[in-house]
Amino acid sequence: MAERPYIVGNWKMNGTRAMLSEARAIDRAAQRYMKVEVALAPPFTLLHAVHREAEQIGVGAQDCHAEPDGAHTGDVSATMVADSGAKFVVLGHSERRGDHGESDALIASKVSAALEAGLRIILCCGESEATRDAGKAEDFVLDQLRAGLPKLEDASERITVAYEPIWAIGTGRTAEAADIAAMHHAIHGLLVETYGEEQAAGVRILYGGSVKPDNAREILSLSHVGGALVGGASLSAESFLGIVVAA
Ligand code: PGA
Repeated sequence: MAERPYIVGNWKMNGTRAMLSEARAIDRAAQRYMKVEVALAPPFTLLHAVHREAEQIGVGAQDCHAEPDGAHTGDVSATMVADSGAKFVVLGHSERRGDHGESDALIASKVSAALEAGLRIILCCGESEATRDAGKAEDFVLDQLRAGLPKLEDASERITVAYEPIWAIGTGRTAEAADIAAMHHAIHGLLVETYGEEQAAGVRILYGGSVKPDNAREILSLSHVGGALVGGASLSAESFLGIVVAA
């Protein structure tokens, strides 16, 4: 596990102001686990409010537009995300790729916009079950990352990668430990190629897909697993904190 594991809750399209009490509970508890970096990605509507609650945890958005402003009804730019107080943005999540047809090229332009706005990014990748069954998971994931990873001198400060096999998201199924370890090893190799040993060592690679308090310890103990991107289990402070404790 990385020196300081990074546990990020992705609330997806969940959460009204009633959920602010969960965010507060997570933030207060996180102050007791300073060896773990804890963050939440609430929906846009709660970004500013969660940021105001947060004394310890990081706060980020789940997406941003590639343009800084303009006539894009319903969209939110990276500049606006940064203005809300958020410090990072999740990009390339498989639900964005699937629900909104986001291509690797679009995601790359969002990555540039986010970095330009001073945000850190969590770049997501992951294969479908059919791709894994065809034996092409590693090539597929590395291609997604080659398309999305920006050229940067300080990658370790700005970038986190999240590997989330699509078939493990929200299904209760997690990938086999050996498959997670192999994929994280391959991703780390690509990071070394792209940024060099020293920077790559500081880029955490999160695993996501049905991470829960009872499987977190095993997953987080695998080499090159630097933390977790947590969907369903981040919606209650109790289960999310169970994962923070396991880290
Ligand atoms: P899950 O979602 O933990 O509910 O599987 C993970 C994610 O999509 O980030």
